[in-house]
Amino acid sequence: MSDLPSHLSPVYAPAPLSSRHIPDFSLTPDSRGASPPPPNLISPAFTPPLTPESHTPAIVHDPQPVPIDPAAQKPQKLLQTLPEVECIVRARIPTVTGAEMYLHVYTNNVDNKEHLAIVFGSHIRSKSMYAVRPGETERDRMIRGAYEGRLHPGRLSSRTESKSWPHPAKDPDALKEIPPLVRIHSECYTGETAWSARCDCGEQLDEAARLMSLPDSNGGVIVYLRQEGRGIGLGEKLKAYNLQDLGSDTVEANLLLRHPADARSYGLATAMLLDLGFGGNRGIRLLTNNPDKVRAVEGPHQEIVVKQRVPMVPLAWKTGGVRGIHSEEIEGYLQAKIGKMGHMIG
Ligand SMILES: [Zn+2]
Repeated sequence: MSDLPSHLSPVYAPAPLSSRHIPDFSLTPDSRGASPPPPNLISPAFTPPLTPESHTPAIVHDPQPVPIDPAAQKPQKLLQTLPEVECIVRARIPTVTGAEMYLHVYTNNVDNKEHLAIVFGSHIRSKSMYAVRPGETERDRMIRGAYEGRLHPGRLSSRTESKSWPHPAKDPDALKEIPPLVRIHSECYTGETAWSARCDCGEQLDEAARLMSLPDSNGGVIVYLRQEGRGIGLGEKLKAYNLQDLGSDTVEANLLLRHPADARSYGLATAMLLDLGFGGNRGIRLLTNNPDKVRAVEGPHQEIVVKQRVPMVPLAWKTGGVRGIHSEEIEGYLQAKIGKMGHMIG
């Protein structure tokens, strides 16, 4: 080929085997010298389209809170400093279930995505949201959501609108005793919007919201990270689906695409939870099946304390198949996860 002019040699021979990147399923993200992962400061940098904490192993029973055993937590690489976050706007959203939530939009200093906090309970307040900004009017504050009580036509002041603040229906002292529920959820267009039965992200989002809006709940927060496929993006995620249809399991598919099986971090989520007042010893109850996530969310200096891990059991398992997701794909996926990921229920 080297004897030919370059314009005649558009086709290249395969590289010698030794120079090609061969996925090694035991590789950690750091050891992947041929294709280092992008910076994952932004949290769930990349994750297989179907990931451990969003899909759960097959044990059928109701979720029970699980006490956290610090000795059982695996050491995990954590960010040494948390990102800076700021809640720039908040609004009340009535939902189709009848429950109300407050949607909080955050900016940060590590990416330019609008990460979200879906907040159940008007007593949960963002520090950065309520901070007074230089030169703003009362109307400015109400427009960006920094008001107390409820908005109504003709309202002039952002402050002390409601005597029932901070929580109209419940005893504030009792609320202080129970750690609020928290779910860290990564965006999944296919599972939440496009009716995909390859994963149960949509179901898990619904279930987290349901638990946080039960009459005896003291509210909670779903931190919604804008990480489609947890960072690999929708295009790569769809390639992984095609590889799965060609016979790979979900872990193998991601590795074949040179994405680590799991290289997430949760600094943004930790910073947002701190902003929402969830730091300190009161702690949180974390909805997850992934024990590794517990320590990751707690932050580098245990800024957040996870008092309990609350498992998420797939609806199909809880109801003996009456409700929930049914598909060949999700069953195969779950089997792969059970074998390769350390997820737990109960
Ligand atoms: Zn999904």
